[in-house]
Amino acid sequence: MAELIEKPIGLAAKPTRSQEFYDNVKRKFAEERDLRLNYRPNGTAQYTSEFSGALAKYEVDPYAGEVTPREPINDTVEVLFIGGGFSALLTSARLREHGVESIRIVERGADVGGTWYWNRYPGVACDVVAYDYLPLLDELDYVPKDHYARGPEIFAHCQAIARKYNLYKLATFQTTVTSTIWDPDEQMWNLTTDRGDHMKARFVICANGTLSKPKLAKIKGLETFKGHSFHTSRWDYAYTKPDLSGLENKVVGIIGTGATAVQAIPGLGAAAKELYVFQRTPSSIDIRDDWPTDPNWARRLPHGWQARRRARARMEPQLTEEQKAKQAAMSHEDKIRRQENANIEAMMKIHQRIDAIVKDKATAEALKPWYMLMCKRPCFHNDYLPTFNRPNVHLIDTKGKGITEITEKGVMFEGKQYELDVLIYATGFEVQKTGIYNQIKGANGLELNDKYREGIRTLLGIHSEGYPNLFIMGGYQASFQFNLTDMLQAQGDHIAACIDYARRHGYQSVDATPEAEEWWVQEIINHRGKTNRNHECTPGYYNFEGEFQRRQDGNYNGGFFQYCNHLGEVQARMDDHFSFSKK
Ligand code: NDP
Repeated sequence: MAELIEKPIGLAAKPTRSQEFYDNVKRKFAEERDLRLNYRPNGTAQYTSEFSGALAKYEVDPYAGEVTPREPINDTVEVLFIGGGFSALLTSARLREHGVESIRIVERGADVGGTWYWNRYPGVACDVVAYDYLPLLDELDYVPKDHYARGPEIFAHCQAIARKYNLYKLATFQTTVTSTIWDPDEQMWNLTTDRGDHMKARFVICANGTLSKPKLAKIKGLETFKGHSFHTSRWDYAYTKPDLSGLENKVVGIIGTGATAVQAIPGLGAAAKELYVFQRTPSSIDIRDDWPTDPNWARRLPHGWQARRRARARMEPQLTEEQKAKQAAMSHEDKIRRQENANIEAMMKIHQRIDAIVKDKATAEALKPWYMLMCKRPCFHNDYLPTFNRPNVHLIDTKGKGITEITEKGVMFEGKQYELDVLIYATGFEVQKTGIYNQIKGANGLELNDKYREGIRTLLGIHSEGYPNLFIMGGYQASFQFNLTDMLQAQGDHIAACIDYARRHGYQSVDATPEAEEWWVQEIINHRGKTNRNHECTPGYYNFEGEFQRRQDGNYNGGFFQYCNHLGEVQARMDDHFSFSKK
């Protein structure tokens, strides 16, 4: 996630004011960050994702209904995916192209889709242009309906991929992998699940995503609330009704104003009798430039159009000779200052937009974010800010402190009780470092989490020495792309190439060498920490709530182009990076 912060996007605005102005804004950014850090000294421990007892209801799948009974499975497959989101779907498509037939997805939800299975809150959509975000469009001969896709379309696309590549046949849903243990004699992974299964697999791919486990802020009295409550990733449509008409006579509260809340709040504001938005830190809200896909344009798209778009995304940005000379002449400090000033200009534009839209001055002030753009996930929405002009919508700005008490009637803040019928938690997701719910033990019996305790160690963020035939997707030490499916596609291609190589050579196992792993750890360390931006940002999940991080415990910061080059180099010289076993 850190790369997002190191490389801000979309900073078109040119710095035009005195340096004193920018320095003052930077000082205000620092004050606002410190205020927040002081309110939450417990960092990531301010949240919980252990939902037992009274909290167990927050993790129940409202979309699947009862768990379908079935006999435990005791069998062997060639490739097993833990998780059924885009990571699994993209890699499976490539594996099928290489002739791999035995592929199983084991998924906690009742269908494929991952994040798009779970997140069905009203207004759910993706902020990345749909023609880039939705993968395998060439293969499925599909063109998204709009410039930006809504959640249901993306979820349906995931299902269409699973059908096209025949992935439903062996898939097991409503099943959570609980242990993944390497058997060196058999050269196989042994997996157990919460459904009593004992599965074996030659290759295992951790495709469980990084933001999969919902979390709640540990707020005093959380369990005492007597009204209705749920997390945004477990939306209770039985209560709200699909068109939200169930909220017509209800007083609704929502905690959190991150990317999820920004999409849900306009619908809630329009439907609820009263809506209270409890804000700790505002998001940055820019224009959402959306339109329906022109059918004539879609019809004329040549075969392979998306593959060419994706190839362009992997290309290194080209600078003119003049730009290169200018950059070379600038000191490191000057470069940073220019970037920061441009970033502040962009944030001032976000502030101006708020002033132009939000009528109540105090509300407008409270909605202004005071941090560098990209410290938090930037949001794009045309209806979010106008929602605060509705008479039934109330912004309760906690000025960085956050809600600290919940009672049986609702939310308490600064001695005032907000009585609510329903309370919605838009408090986000735990950032996982390795497989969730799952214990992964490698060749020497060491748990992967224990190996990582001294610092994450991988090759390309995908392989870890001592864990043969295990591939990790979307994890740390890999590149980070604003368009995540670009990244997952690159990783999926690489994993399919590794498995194909092993199969063609008759190898039973593939393991990163210690030297290859060490090379990659040093690459990570060398590319990180070029600026203090991560540390200077307001706390949030991008910077582990401001907690100290080892330099190796983050993303690869050398850029996506360079990351893809490294993937290619490793594939071209497999024998230099892996040890193989024919046993
Ligand atoms: P986030 O972690 O981004 O947001 C959690 C929110 O809860 C923050 O606003 C946080 O405040 C707030 N919060 C936590 N504790 C309290 C408290 N005690 N009182 C008041 N507020 C509190 O989670 P989201 O689900 O919004 O987003 C997660 C990620 O999912 C996004 O960053 C993005 O990567 C992805 N996503 C992408 C979308 C898109 O494409 N548009 C849409 C939705 C999600 P604070 O900021 O102060 O910590």
